[in-house]
Amino acid sequence: MSKLVEVKDLKVHFGVRQSLMKELFTKEKKKVKAVDGINFSIDRGEIVSLVGESGSGKTTTGKAILQLIEEQEGDILFDGKDDFKKNKKQLKAFRQQAQMIFQDPYQSLNPKYMIYDIVAEPLVVNGLVKPEKERKAKVVEALEWAGLRPAEEYLYRYPHELSGGQKQRVAIASALILNPKFIVADEPVSMLDVSVRADILKLMVKLRDEMDLSYLFITHDLSLAWLISDRIAIMYLGKIVEIGDAESVVKSPSHPYSQALINVMPSLRSKRSERKILKGELPDASDMPKGCRFHPRCPIAEEKCKHEIPPLKEVADGQYAACHFAEKKEETDDKAAVGSH
Ligand code: SF4
Repeated sequence: MSKLVEVKDLKVHFGVRQSLMKELFTKEKKKVKAVDGINFSIDRGEIVSLVGESGSGKTTTGKAILQLIEEQEGDILFDGKDDFKKNKKQLKAFRQQAQMIFQDPYQSLNPKYMIYDIVAEPLVVNGLVKPEKERKAKVVEALEWAGLRPAEEYLYRYPHELSGGQKQRVAIASALILNPKFIVADEPVSMLDVSVRADILKLMVKLRDEMDLSYLFITHDLSLAWLISDRIAIMYLGKIVEIGDAESVVKSPSHPYSQALINVMPSLRSKRSERKILKGELPDASDMPKGCRFHPRCPIAEEKCKHEIPPLKEVADGQYAACHFAEKKEETDDKAAVGSH
């Protein structure tokens, strides 16, 4: 498979206000390093999940890939190119190929518009498909791709007349109408009833298979990531701390944070990971811990962890972890487990 999206040394650092006195004396603004030098790629037809707690930088990463954040630094390549940065025309073309689905379909759909207008809006905004008859045919097709059949029954209804699952399908239809290659799906099922979550995830996978879509799937729920992803990247305070194929990250995690996330998921927990308990809250992102950012919460932290930043290193074929004590996996997983030091 070839790479569709490449993220290289992506940083998003926001300035935040301090007290006026402090700003006058220090003459510098405090920075929140929402995303702090991350690297990963997404192949054509691949689903990569970004998993982490709220505040870890997942959504900011998704928006930065779509060029929606002013403060971003680093390189984003799409189909091997970054010419969308050079002018508005190229950026518009890029945005037609790269779409976003938001967490809350109750908020993302304008309650004053009929479903027809909501789904047709990307065509109108981009000046595409002007004849009404063709536009309607496109809307019908997109609604049917999203599983709303017969589409004609939905066209002239309003969002409040639909269930949460149906609303999210409308949001998916609106993202699909421009025939994108890539979708950032930001917690797309977290606001939905448990009973419809699986249906939306199945639809996403079906669309990937039939339309050769690639996804960045953003979630705090590792069990959902495992269901849908080819690869999983675990984020903590703006950094990727582990990345690898979904099976390896879930069944044989190398980073204590990944192990702790698995630990709170009874369906994923293994006997070996039961001893890793996540303590405390996510630290303030404007006052990052020195060394390994995870050290104040890490059950196996040592003195070195307070001073030295652990680099991402390969622990198995295609699996990387940023922990001083993550070992290369060889004959058995037990030997490779973090904590065996
Ligand atoms: Fe824990 Fe140290 Fe590894 Fe960080 S580097 S995850 S603090 S053991």
